[in-house]
Amino acid sequence: MNSLIRKVQYKMYPNQAQLESMESLRVHHHQLYCWALKDRISTYKEFGYGLSFSDQCKINTQYRQRRSAHGIFNANAQSEQVTLKRVQLAFDGFFRRLKENRKAGFPRFKQFERFKGWGYKSHGDGWKLSLNPKKHGAVYLADVGIVKIRGQARNERGVPKTAEVLKRQDGWYLSVSFEYPAIQREAGNRAAALDWGLEHYATVVDDTGNVDQIDNPRYLRKSQEKLSELQREFALCKKRSREWKFLKSCISRLHQKIGNQRKDFIHQKSAEIISTSAILAFEELNTKNMTRSAKGTVESPGKRVKQKSGLNKSILDASPAAFYASLRYKAEDAGVLLEVAPTRKLKPSQTCPKCGSVKKKTLSERTHSCECGYSAPRDVASAQVVLNWALGNSQARNEPVAA
Ligand SMILES: [Zn+2]
Repeated sequence: MNSLIRKVQYKMYPNQAQLESMESLRVHHHQLYCWALKDRISTYKEFGYGLSFSDQCKINTQYRQRRSAHGIFNANAQSEQVTLKRVQLAFDGFFRRLKENRKAGFPRFKQFERFKGWGYKSHGDGWKLSLNPKKHGAVYLADVGIVKIRGQARNERGVPKTAEVLKRQDGWYLSVSFEYPAIQREAGNRAAALDWGLEHYATVVDDTGNVDQIDNPRYLRKSQEKLSELQREFALCKKRSREWKFLKSCISRLHQKIGNQRKDFIHQKSAEIISTSAILAFEELNTKNMTRSAKGTVESPGKRVKQKSGLNKSILDASPAAFYASLRYKAEDAGVLLEVAPTRKLKPSQTCPKCGSVKKKTLSERTHSCECGYSAPRDVASAQVVLNWALGNSQARNEPVAA
């Protein structure tokens, strides 16, 4: 099994002196980028050949020696190579597009304003990350110092590999690539299908006939109630008053807390499902699933839309994207086969899992009851359709090819 690389973004909180150092590093790398581009162009014009990445690294190493002999600043050597590599990548892209007969777009000189920042190749060389799940993290950057960072601390098993320092409209960010050693996750031996529903967070059915309906946990509901309460108070406050500010910060902290609770919940449930399955099937993510919010869906419009469409609209109702992503990578770790069902073709919510007849359900029909005598909660029936489809697929694969 291959290891996985994932990127994590941290917001950086430099002090004034660090901010100035970071700006001057950005100037430095911008100049290096422009020089490398210019040198490639002029070498080609004068001598008729292009410079490669390694040519430019060699030239730069000589420059660095001369610069340091004259007491002129050099940035971390590897970070300079990363900038030279970016020039290489710009040319690679240019030649690739040229080959594909697309609009090629010769690598351009970047305006300083549009130059985002610089990067590092290996952890410990020019940068060092220090993450503490209880406190805010920090990163050491050469020529800058130790800068406070904030972001996802859940990286227990990730090994930091490379990093990029980026300037955006709203400040500086550190983007770190973590390598996750492929861990052997336990898998089960059932075939299961999952429906991400309206009444329950998810419904899981399997080939042994088990039906498991997963609800949003009580602590999420509690937090949700608390949030609504705070928001009601907040709405009644005089704008920008002391109380208003206080409540505002309470609300934002609670949002963060709920976010973490949801992450934990997703992590826990997806681990449970994967550890008991050999095959897992679900519907592809589509707009029907994605737009589920206070407004509900065409199939099932929400109640009290106006009241819900404030900040709290989607807390118990978050998009399934994170849940599916978690299932996906855990399935990969465990070697569980994922089957993603084509919703439009399969119509899980309209099809009878027993006899296969297709009938549209009305908005309020929460139960599937078919003329063939089969009846089940709507979510269960549609998970069952997906399961049948997945089992059909796996049978098809085992069947010998007809001669
Ligand atoms: Zn039927």
